[in-house]
Amino acid sequence: MNASFNMPTRVFAGRGTVTQNKDYFGIGDHALIVTGKSSARLSGALDDVTAVLDEFGISYTVFDGVTENPPLLLCHQAGELAAQVGADFVIGIGGGSPLDAAKAIAAFAANPDIAPEDVYDPEKRVESSLPIIAIPTTAGTGSEVNPYAVLTLPDGERKKTFTCDDSWPIFAFVDPKYTDSLPYGTTVSTALDAFAHAMESYLSPKSTPFSEAAALFAAEHIWDVLSQYPDTFTEEMRDRLSAASTAAGMAISVTGTGFPHPLGYSITLLDGIPHGRACAAFAEDYINYNEKDPVGKERIARFAAACGTTPKVIKTYLPALAEVELHFTEDEIERRIALVEKAKNYTNSPYVINPDEMRSIYKRLFAGKRR
Ligand code: NAP
Ligand code: FE
Repeated sequence: MNASFNMPTRVFAGRGTVTQNKDYFGIGDHALIVTGKSSARLSGALDDVTAVLDEFGISYTVFDGVTENPPLLLCHQAGELAAQVGADFVIGIGGGSPLDAAKAIAAFAANPDIAPEDVYDPEKRVESSLPIIAIPTTAGTGSEVNPYAVLTLPDGERKKTFTCDDSWPIFAFVDPKYTDSLPYGTTVSTALDAFAHAMESYLSPKSTPFSEAAALFAAEHIWDVLSQYPDTFTEEMRDRLSAASTAAGMAISVTGTGFPHPLGYSITLLDGIPHGRACAAFAEDYINYNEKDPVGKERIARFAAACGTTPKVIKTYLPALAEVELHFTEDEIERRIALVEKAKNYTNSPYVINPDEMRSIYKRLFAGKRR
């Protein structure tokens, strides 16, 4: 049994947590605040943060240019901006895209002369990243409690994860109130992402007693909320999804994710399917393949039982919620497989799929009809 444990992010959670814990923002003189186009304002998080910074006389620059599935090149440019304005810490506010971008920007800000792709090279990235504070406005990625930054490469067709020890946010302020403004569809999609994290982490050969407990806590709450097929999300549901998403983020900080993640990246980048729905589209195949392995079969049964259901119900319900309707020719499928077949995640589950099996998954889901 591996009971090792690392959670260097201090998490403050609950409605009103930014204002209640404002003293923790005093970690520098000038903050670069990294956000998407409108969610930081819409959610109220930006106003809460700037009120605290103003009160403490901490100056800041707002970079609100982060787009979904953040591009590596954009993070490189924002890192130059951070260096120019003399930022000595970074505050990421938003969904997974601004939070992941904040981690890369914090690395580029400390190493402004490196080329974009050098962020992945620890020999080139010699200076430690600026300290990061993360404030999620979605309940999905768990980026606030892990060191991963999933970045889109310059070809616009592939994602590559940047991670290093100083990409862990030092503080995470997880206020479910900031998710109240999330549209219904984005709430479902991001909850599906968090559920995928819980399930893929629980099945991972790298799981530990800590990650398993976090994964099951997350899965139980998300399943309970989503399986009600709610017409609307109440405050209580949002509170549960928010806590669950952070727990699932902790679980994947130990294990990483399984094959639905890379298989989903190509239909997100090429076909515009939001990340959580893209992962959920592959849930049936993920469960079916892992049930071929005795360890996988036992683990998925235990995971489903903890949710109060069965693997059969999970593998029917998740793709139905994902509502991914895509139709590819054989060439289009080949193109997508070529983009994702080299990811490392395939070895991260009891059953390891090969490229032919990836192909048959894509064909089962998406072949047959022309777009
Ligand atoms: P996102 O891409 O950050 O945001 C999706 C959309 O939701 C954007 O239009 C955003 O608006 C909007 N939005 C966010 N919060 C809102 C709010 N409170 N009210 C209204 N609209 C809001 O979505 P995400 O699913 O959280 O993040 C996905 C990204 O995270 C992907 O790039 C994925 O690869 C990555 N990811 C990272 C990890 C990790 O462990 N680090 C794990 C899973 C996924 P704005 O554009 O205005 O912000
Ligand atoms: Fe994810």
